Amino acid sequence: MEFLEERLIDCPYCGEAITVLLDEQEAGHEYTEDCQVCCKPIVFNLSTDVAGSLCISVRTENDTY
Ligand SMILES: [Zn+2]
Repeated sequence: MEFLEERLIDCPYCGEAITVLLDEQEAGHEYTEDCQVCCKPIVFNLSTDVAGSLCISVRTENDTY
C-alpha cells in the first residue's frame, strides 16, 4: 500500500505551481517545507475529508489563523 500522493499546489509566496508529496500519515498535522522555486518556508496543513480524501492547504509562515 502506497501512502504518498503527489499534489500540485501554488506557492503562497511566488505563486509558482510546485509538486508536493502528501503523506497520508501526516493528516491532521502542519508541517513546513521550503518552496522549490523561491526557497521560502511554506506551511502545509494536511487533513482528510469525510470521504477519506486528502486535502492540502498552504499558507505563508507569517499568516496567523
Ligand atoms: Zn515559492
